[in-house]
Amino acid sequence: MRIVQKYGGSSVATAERIRHVVSRIIMTRQAGHEVIVVVSAMGDTTDELIALAKQLAAEPDPRELDVLMSTGETQAAALVAIALKEQHVPAVSLMASQAGIRTTDRHRRALITAVHPERVVRELDAGKVCIITGFQGITEEGDITTIGRGGSDSSAVAVAVALKADRCEFYKDVEGILTADPRIVPQAQKLDVISHEEILELTTLGAQVLHPRAIELGQVYRMPLVVLPTFSMGSGTVIRALTDEERVMEQFNRVSGVVCERNVAKVTVVGVPDRPGVAYQIFKPLADAGINVDIIVQNVSRDGITDMSFTLATEDLPAARRLLEPVRGALGAAILDAATGFGKISIVGVGMQTHPGYAATMFGALRDAEINIQMITTSDIRITCLIDDRDVDTAVRTLHEAFIEQVAAAASA
Ligand code: ASP
Ligand code: MG
Repeated sequence: MRIVQKYGGSSVATAERIRHVVSRIIMTRQAGHEVIVVVSAMGDTTDELIALAKQLAAEPDPRELDVLMSTGETQAAALVAIALKEQHVPAVSLMASQAGIRTTDRHRRALITAVHPERVVRELDAGKVCIITGFQGITEEGDITTIGRGGSDSSAVAVAVALKADRCEFYKDVEGILTADPRIVPQAQKLDVISHEEILELTTLGAQVLHPRAIELGQVYRMPLVVLPTFSMGSGTVIRALTDEERVMEQFNRVSGVVCERNVAKVTVVGVPDRPGVAYQIFKPLADAGINVDIIVQNVSRDGITDMSFTLATEDLPAARRLLEPVRGALGAAILDAATGFGKISIVGVGMQTHPGYAATMFGALRDAEINIQMITTSDIRITCLIDDRDVDTAVRTLHEAFIEQVAAAASA
């Protein structure tokens, strides 16, 4: 197999850890696979480089900041290659320019436009392990770019796609993808398999295992992604497309994760006229200001008057109030009601598309825990409830028990 292995900053943080990474690469080669490695900068190098630049300029020039930040990944790639060669493994470090990782010229947040892997293929054909810098790119002009913080996950997937690799592995300091945050739910279980769309939902809801853009790339190009522990031999979690048969199978009729989000605020514009354009008037200024709104509920109107409620991050509330006060006036709405202290709790699972009853089970479990639901929203594979912030931990544990622990217990009984 041709395997891309991505090692994150903490996996290459010290010489000792790099030696460990090298032993994993050697094991993979000995199993008969071709290995391409993509690395992040060691530990907190990127943060340190940015801090250094900020001592010289409040807003460092983006082009130069990219040149600077990209050196973190270059260092890591060179060090891994040095350590491999010390073990008599033929290896070569390649920067983005050499590995053909082309991007747009939007510095600090460039988008990968193409990967031209000819050089990489040549080195692989010569039997070498290629160590490619993550995070870096190169413009048509030959300028160095970076693709956004945490971006080396995406670099790895882009390289895997261009090389038609069989899989892209991510080595992390976790056992794999878990059904809940183990700090809240000690019984959280590692998933063996999860679909790209489920992990995307979980990620946007705050379970940050892989960079969302990397998952999207994997989904679009149907690249299997595997999250593996760097420091143990666990089997990790495979993220891949599920077949149509699998989707209706019992195994996937399950909730794959329970996630929560805190610091949510709720706004209600009370008494707005029920006519075309009102939602636009309310949400356009928020969008223009880059404020993300989430659960939106418009009540059924009475006598041509309705209420519009939505949630947003608490930190965005002051700005939202400022923007909406004139809108309230223009709409002749009675009150702008805003409150903080909420949290969101969600269950995610592809089984929802084909099996009924998830919502009822969720609401039942929350009722048993005497947790009041304030708002509800759903997608194809997710149900989210807005609840009191202080109920969030209990809600996560309650839903994890109802959807995951009880199901697992029933299956093994
Ligand atoms: N080193 C970069 C960062 O810290 C890229 C990455 O780690 O993925 O954001
Ligand atoms: Mg990093």
